[in-house]
Amino acid sequence: MLVRVGGTPLLRLAQCVQNPKVRLYAKAEWYNPGGSVKDRPALNMIQEGERSGKLTRGKTLIDATSGNTGIAYAMFGAALGYEVELVIPANVGPERKRIIEAYGASVRESDPLEGTDGARGLVQSLVARKPEKYFYPDQYNNPANWQAHFQTTGEEILHQTKGAVTHFVCGLGTTGTFVGTSRRLKQANAAVQSIAVQPDGPFHGLEGLKHIPSSWIPGIYDPTLVDGVEEVATEEAYAMVKRLAREEGLLVGISSGAATVAAVRIAERLEAGMVVTIFPDNGTKYLNELFWEK
Ligand code: PMP
Repeated sequence: MLVRVGGTPLLRLAQCVQNPKVRLYAKAEWYNPGGSVKDRPALNMIQEGERSGKLTRGKTLIDATSGNTGIAYAMFGAALGYEVELVIPANVGPERKRIIEAYGASVRESDPLEGTDGARGLVQSLVARKPEKYFYPDQYNNPANWQAHFQTTGEEILHQTKGAVTHFVCGLGTTGTFVGTSRRLKQANAAVQSIAVQPDGPFHGLEGLKHIPSSWIPGIYDPTLVDGVEEVATEEAYAMVKRLAREEGLLVGISSGAATVAAVRIAERLEAGMVVTIFPDNGTKYLNELFWEK
């Protein structure tokens, strides 16, 4: 199962762009074994922990997550024989918690009003009380997070587009996907433009994404990589999720809908080019969202 991480398909979104000289592609990250983009950094942070000696037999892996990293940690923890304990904001949908618990990991809930910043605070106090018990990868500050995307996501996009990518559009959570992939694409071609996708305010329904101006800034974030920012409203992302299901046959998660809204805006401004975005997960964890009933 570990060797199945990465190597995800790059899908063409043909219905979203009218200009034949502009192509729009999305990397379908739900093809990873844990069902999301977070398999890549979770596995790399665990393997880096083992290499550095910080993760040894008998230690419990602990981290703050909005869900998908937790699912990946729980899955790899079960496969590799490590206990896993996760702190998740209480407002995150129940499906992720159920999946995490199904892998045998334990979940603690943090204050829903404080988001993932509150979950981080709770993890830090637990680790401070028993430092010898825990391995705390700290996905917001761990270079192995963005390096996973530099080594795999970015590399795969270069290969799959034969280097023709001109614009990379990506949401910001821990910022690992944006930072690592942008660094690799810009290393290959300094003209590649990286566009960060942001919720349009601090209170939003774009699970997995952070509103950077009102949040604690992750240590791995590098604002010098940002060539542009696109703000997306939750309702716009919901509408795009429905459209992708009904017009492209792709049932994606809400942050994928937000990424597509932003990527289509960029594509519409271009005369020619190749826009690549990321679909972090699929829609199966979001089927209880009320927008499906409207
Ligand atoms: N979308 C979803 C659904 C996620 O779970 C995450 C991870 N928090 C992201 C987007 C953002 O990815 P990253 O942490 O690499 O910025």
